[in-house]
Amino acid sequence: MTRPILPRDDVALMAGYHSPQVAVDVRLNTNEAPVPPPDAFRARLAEALTGLDWHRYPDRAAAGLRAGIAELEGVRPDQVFAANGSNEVLQTLCLTYGGTGRSVAVFEPTYALHSHIARLTATGVATGERTDDFALDLAEVRRVLDEADPVITFLCSPNNPSGMVETEGTVREVLGLAPGIVVVDEAYGQFTPWSALSLIDDGVPLVVTRTFSKTWSMAGARLGYLVGPSWLVAELDKVVLPYHLDAAKQLAGTIALEFRDEMEARVAGLVEERGRLVAGLAGLPVEQWPSGANFILFRPSKQAGQEVWQGLLDRSVLVRNCASWPRLDDCLRVTVGTPDENDRFLAALREVLA
Ligand code: PMP
Repeated sequence: MTRPILPRDDVALMAGYHSPQVAVDVRLNTNEAPVPPPDAFRARLAEALTGLDWHRYPDRAAAGLRAGIAELEGVRPDQVFAANGSNEVLQTLCLTYGGTGRSVAVFEPTYALHSHIARLTATGVATGERTDDFALDLAEVRRVLDEADPVITFLCSPNNPSGMVETEGTVREVLGLAPGIVVVDEAYGQFTPWSALSLIDDGVPLVVTRTFSKTWSMAGARLGYLVGPSWLVAELDKVVLPYHLDAAKQLAGTIALEFRDEMEARVAGLVEERGRLVAGLAGLPVEQWPSGANFILFRPSKQAGQEVWQGLLDRSVLVRNCASWPRLDDCLRVTVGTPDENDRFLAALREVLA
């Protein structure tokens, strides 16, 4: 090579996604479900895979999976779009509606991939600030939307990393202010009683994204979806690559939906464990934020976040280190695990903070 081959200028300047994948006893850093799906699911899937036509392309429309998700969410199949994780759903939204000369709005701190994916798709990012308590400030929302005229306004409920849930009133207000599509990222939506899904209508430019990665115990499958107006789903179908959902994944997702009761039982168990973690943290020198998700954001009061993160890692407990993220000085985020994992986390944290 006579000269280096460079990527796009904007890609050259980007930092990629970073979240350590290290071998530890207690892994509480990526908000996965701490337990696998039921044995009966595995057995059903194994049987179904035996009969799979591996030599044929999969159903391009993923009709069976869409129908199953539509039934689950109480909408029509043409209001459902599925992809490889909700990240790919978000990417398809940005590819379809974003691009050069267009922008999205985000309110920080929030899920980092909203702005990252926007930038990857050459879409501008207009950034608004949340209050010190990480709540949406409607005056700030109005300011950003008026200035930037974004094609997509991202909300996240419960918000990652704070765990804060948006109320119906707030989502309705933002819908009233937004000049384009409002995306409510509900990757953790099953942990909360109210969902923006109740506002979905072909006449409303609202989209709700969800995932099989958390409550369905299927992060390994990479499957997510959105529910939104059928006219929007039809546009996304033009943009996504043909046959993007492989046949095995379509089966896994469809069969998983037969185990809804088990999923709901897991969610109830995690909510109970979240309460136990909140109570445990309340007895320690940390500040914590109320969470409607399967994780809790907290900040040690007397020690640096990085130091506490390392102390936990030294005790084979991995949490998410948000200590150096903008607006999250010294914060750490812990995923709700099994009762045993949560005990080990609390014991390790007690030692580190002692
Ligand atoms: N949205 C939010 C808010 C998340 O926290 C995550 C996972 N970290 C995702 C979307 C992406 O999930 P997946 O691609 O696994 O569906």
